[in-house]
Amino acid sequence: MSTYPDEKSKSAQLYERACRVLPGGNSRSSIFQSPYPIYAQSGKGCRITDVDGVERIDFLNNYTTLIHGHAHPEIQAAVVKALERGASFAHPTESEIEMAELLTERVGSFERVRFTNSGTEAVMNAVKAARAYTGKTKIAKCEGCYHGVYDWTEVSLDSTPENWGEEEPAAVAYCDGTPPSVLEDVVVIPYNDIDAAERILAQHAGELAAVIVDPLPARAGLIPASDSFLTRLRSFTKGHGILLILDEVISFRVGYHGAQTALGVQPDLTTLGKIIGGGLPVGALAGKAAIMEVFDPRQARVPVPHAGTFNANPLTMAGGLAAMRLLSQEACERLNTLGERVRRELRRAFNVAGVPGMITGMGSLFMIHPHNKPIESYRAVRTARAADKAFDWIFHYLLNHGIVMSAQGLGALSTVMTESDVDRLPETLLAALREIPKELLPEG
Ligand code: PMP
Repeated sequence: MSTYPDEKSKSAQLYERACRVLPGGNSRSSIFQSPYPIYAQSGKGCRITDVDGVERIDFLNNYTTLIHGHAHPEIQAAVVKALERGASFAHPTESEIEMAELLTERVGSFERVRFTNSGTEAVMNAVKAARAYTGKTKIAKCEGCYHGVYDWTEVSLDSTPENWGEEEPAAVAYCDGTPPSVLEDVVVIPYNDIDAAERILAQHAGELAAVIVDPLPARAGLIPASDSFLTRLRSFTKGHGILLILDEVISFRVGYHGAQTALGVQPDLTTLGKIIGGGLPVGALAGKAAIMEVFDPRQARVPVPHAGTFNANPLTMAGGLAAMRLLSQEACERLNTLGERVRRELRRAFNVAGVPGMITGMGSLFMIHPHNKPIESYRAVRTARAADKAFDWIFHYLLNHGIVMSAQGLGALSTVMTESDVDRLPETLLAALREIPKELLPEG
C-alpha cells in the first residue's frame, strides 16, 4: 500500500494541478487536507478506492451522509431511472410529494416540508421563516456549533480563548468581512448549560425569532444535548414566542424518527440534509403547518420566497426516497447496535493499550478523543483539542492502514457494514496506540 503522504502519488499530482485553477485546490473547505487530499476513484459498499488504487473502509461516509455506503444498487437504480425520465424540470414531480409524505409520516413535528439543495440552505430558510412568522430578527445559537456556511449561524463557530469573553459568550465573527450588523443580531449561548443559556436568552427574549440547536454537535464533542437543556429550552422558547429550530442535518440518522424523538423534544422547525438525499445534494426544512405556511404563495400576506432551480429535483428525490425506504426501523436498530459496538470496542482499545482516551456519540455516530480531559462544553473540547498531539498521528496511521475517518475524529457507520468491517477500526486503533510515540500522548 502506498503511504500517505507521497509526493509521487497520483493524488499529489492531481492536487498540484487543482491548485492552478481552484483556490486551495478544491471547492469544499471541510475536506482540505495538508499536504494534499486523497482523490477518490470509486466507492462500493463500505469501501473507497483512491486514484492510486488504495482501498480503505469508509468510516466517514461523506461526513455522515452515505448511510447505506457507496453505490448502493437500489439507490443507484432509482436515480438512473429518474435520470432517464429527465434530469430536472420547471415542473414539480410526484417524487417530491412522496418524499414529503415519507418524512411527515416518520416524525410527529414534521407537518409540512420544503426541500433545498444543502443543509446550509435549509438553515437559511428556517431562519427566514422564523423571522417572518414571529416578526422578530435576532436568532440565538450555541457557541462553537456548526449550521452551514451562513453568516448569522457562523457567528462564534470557532471562538477562541482570546475572543470568547468571560461571563457570557461573545458574538464573534467567523469570517473576515462579516458585517457588524450580523453580530448584533446573533445571541450566543453555551451548549448544554441551560442555566446560563436561559439567563442570556431572557435579556433578548423580546427580539428573538428563533433559537437554533444541533442536538449532537460534532464541534462541541459529539455529546447529545442533555434532557434538561432541551426540555427547559423548549419551555423557555414556547413561553416567549420564540421558535425552536432543531438542526438535524447530521443527527437525523440516530433514530428512525430522528434525534428529536430519541431525545424527547418537539421543535417548531427542523433542518435536514445529508442522509435524506441518498448521496445527492439535499436539504429540507420541516415543521408545524402554521409556521411553514409563511412559504405559501396562496396567502394574503407576502410569502417568504423560497426559490431554487434545483429544489426538490427529481434525481435527489429519487435517491432520497430509495435511501429512506431502505432505512427501515430494523435497519436503523441494527445500525445503532453496530454503533454501540464500535464505541465499546474503541474504548476497549484505549484500555487495552493503557492510553487515555474517550469515545462520544450516539446511534451510528462516534468521535474519538485521545485524552481524558474534560469535554463537557465547547470551550473544554476546544481547549483539549488545542493541546492534543495524538489524533493527527492516529488519523494518518488509520489512513495508511486502510481506514478513512475525519481528521477531527468524527466517524459514521453505514448499513452495509458487517461486524467484522466495523471491528477493523478498533483493531487498527489498538495497533496505532501500541505504536504511537509516547511524547504525543497526554501526560498523566
Ligand atoms: N448543519 C449541520 C449540523 C451540519 O453538520 C451541516 C454540514 N455538515 C450543515 C448544517 C450544512 O449542511 P450542508 O453542508 O449540506 O450545507
